[in-house]
Amino acid sequence: MTEPIIGIDLGTTNSAVAIIENGTPKIIPIEDQSTMPSCVGLDGQGHLLVGQTALNQLAANPESTVTSIKRQMGKNTTVRLGDRSFSPEEISALILGKLKSAAEDYLKQAVNKAVITVPAYFDEGQRKATTDAAKLAKLEAVRIINEPTAAALAYDAESASNQTLLVYDLGGGTFDVSVVVVEEGVVEVKASHGDTELGGDDFDEELVQHVGTQFKNTHGLEIGDDLKAKRRLKVALERAKCTLSDQPYVKIDEDFLYEGKHLTSEISRELYEQRIASYLEKTLGCMHQAMKDAGITPQQLDKILLVGGSSRTPAVSNLIESTLEIEPSLEVNPDLIVALGAAVQAGTLAGVESQSILVDITPHTFNTSTLNSSFIGPHLICVPIIKRNTPLPCRKAEVFYTVSDRQEQVTVDVSQGESSIPEENTTIGEFVVAGLSPVPSGNPIIIEFALDLNGMLKVTATEKSTGLSKEVAIDTTKQTRTFDLEEARENIAAISGETILSDENAPIDAENDHQAILTESKSLKKRAEALDSSGLDAADVDEIQDLVKRTRSAILEQDWEKVHGLNQNLSDVLFYLED
Ligand code: AMP
Repeated sequence: MTEPIIGIDLGTTNSAVAIIENGTPKIIPIEDQSTMPSCVGLDGQGHLLVGQTALNQLAANPESTVTSIKRQMGKNTTVRLGDRSFSPEEISALILGKLKSAAEDYLKQAVNKAVITVPAYFDEGQRKATTDAAKLAKLEAVRIINEPTAAALAYDAESASNQTLLVYDLGGGTFDVSVVVVEEGVVEVKASHGDTELGGDDFDEELVQHVGTQFKNTHGLEIGDDLKAKRRLKVALERAKCTLSDQPYVKIDEDFLYEGKHLTSEISRELYEQRIASYLEKTLGCMHQAMKDAGITPQQLDKILLVGGSSRTPAVSNLIESTLEIEPSLEVNPDLIVALGAAVQAGTLAGVESQSILVDITPHTFNTSTLNSSFIGPHLICVPIIKRNTPLPCRKAEVFYTVSDRQEQVTVDVSQGESSIPEENTTIGEFVVAGLSPVPSGNPIIIEFALDLNGMLKVTATEKSTGLSKEVAIDTTKQTRTFDLEEARENIAAISGETILSDENAPIDAENDHQAILTESKSLKKRAEALDSSGLDAADVDEIQDLVKRTRSAILEQDWEKVHGLNQNLSDVLFYLED
């Protein structure tokens, strides 16, 4: 048996350890969790606490708890723990020691070697400090590799095909973005950029400020300098922030937070995203700089990998996608990707064969539809709730609003597909929630999708103000059978009462024609929406609205000849107006 080499992601906020098992990288659980907080403390009796137990006492015992030690690595400094001082290497060694013993318990043998990851921007001093911390923990750091390299390794880096990847790593305390090129299995970081003072901690602080102001307005009390209350608030708000990645609202209840007063608050994702918008803009600046330094354009990118817990914030992937027009890959858990990549490297060094990671993901996007208003009139668009390639199981929710005053019911429809146009997706369910409160329009309704490993989708719609709720279960696997052209032809023939067309090519050509007509309709509709309606005659606006409406009906009726004719009319009108 070869000597095991483990892969370690020694993170600012969390750490993880992985190994190649049966040819695949696997996370080793630490106290039943896949990651461990990078937190060290001493309890009231002076006993050492590492990981979750140390984090648990952070709020109550901040003087005897150390977090984010990675930020101090390579510095000639010490941190206090109770009445003693420790170097950053020593604190890191305690974290590494716990990861090592978790691996030893799991593998049931001694572990003496590890591949450890560090940020690409770490200088020699910081790398040496990491190696020294490993030595202190009785681990030989057989290789120190860059985190973006590890992320790339976790994704099929063995493949011979050349790929250019952008690794966007937004953690708790730091942000870095790298352009990585994989050629013939060799991974090279072409350029890195970042901000060592930007991460999820800043987002927590934004929420602390927001809730602190609310508390002051309600009770006239400043939580400000009370370290214990502030830490407690930070812990609660960090949890709330994570919930907002999957839910549109979160409630915070902290009894007796400060001077006997309770804190009760609710935060919406919308507000949270506004508060962190300037930080996310900053990350985009770094991203453009890294691409410029690497001499590449967005079009040359093959993939965007998200790394770090904070990259789970939906606003992050939405912003990247709208800026670069590439959907970031979500297949591998961003908290674990670096440790998994370190294990791939460790496996190679130990002479163990490994393959790319297998994950269960949903191959389709699941949407609900909502009314969208533009000058061509209100029309339905699909809004993705669970995006394709999301790892399973998953649970995501969004908020929608009623459009009419005293609206009594809403219809929730569920579709599967990648388009924003309802007709182009497959409807897989529809239900009505009746008995809503008689309130003005804008009544928030939360739609939640929960998809399990077996492809069972549970859809829940809840009126936020009352909790009135309805749930339906949909077996999505029934919708995804492979398309059988012959069967479909017979089917069409059966319902249209015609015999199957004898010309073999005719249906396929017709199908292609329909696609072309539909594509043209879409592009015309976009052109119509892009027109500046303020400079148009009322008659022209009416004509465009009428043509778009009639086109939509013709598409629903699948009357392609009619759609084609309407396209030509609309194209003529637009040509004249755009001129
Ligand atoms: P890392 O340094 O990669 O371990 O990332 C830790 C940061 O990710 C912390 O600020 C966490 O609060 C944040 N984080 C973890 N999970 C989520 C989530 N689901 N949504 C948003 N932030 C998260």
